[in-house]
Parts: sequence; structure tokens; C-alpha cells
Amino acid sequence: MAEGDSSAPDDPSETGGEATEATRCATCGARIGSTAWHPVAARFDDGEFTLYAFCSIECREEWNRP
Ligand SMILES: [Zn+2]
Repeated sequence: MAEGDSSAPDDPSETGGEATEATRCATCGARIGSTAWHPVAARFDDGEFTLYAFCSIECREEWNRP
């Protein structure tokens, strides 16, 4: 289709809304679809509760590593 122009490899048909805050993997930064299941991890630090999302089990385990 597009020739000689740089096109984004992903996100082919997102035309409905604009600038939706996509969840990103805390380890590798990959976008995580809101409909797809993904592992999460919670951390309670300094009175702050933070929830992390991951694209895969592998990334979650990687994140757990010191
Ligand atoms: Zn990941």
C-alpha cells in the first residue's frame, strides 16, 4: 500500500477515538490491549499503591527479578 513512506507497524485500525491512554508493559513497554488478558503486579511503596501491567508472564517474571 504505502510506498516510500514510513508507516507504523502496529495499530492499523484505531480510528474511533484519539489519544487513548494505552496500558504499557512495565518491563518492555509494549502496548497492551484493554481487552486482552495480561498479568499485573501490585507494589506498595512509601504509602503509594502502584499497579503494574505486563504483556506476558515472561515480562512479569523479568520485572520481579532484582
Ligand atoms: Zn513486556
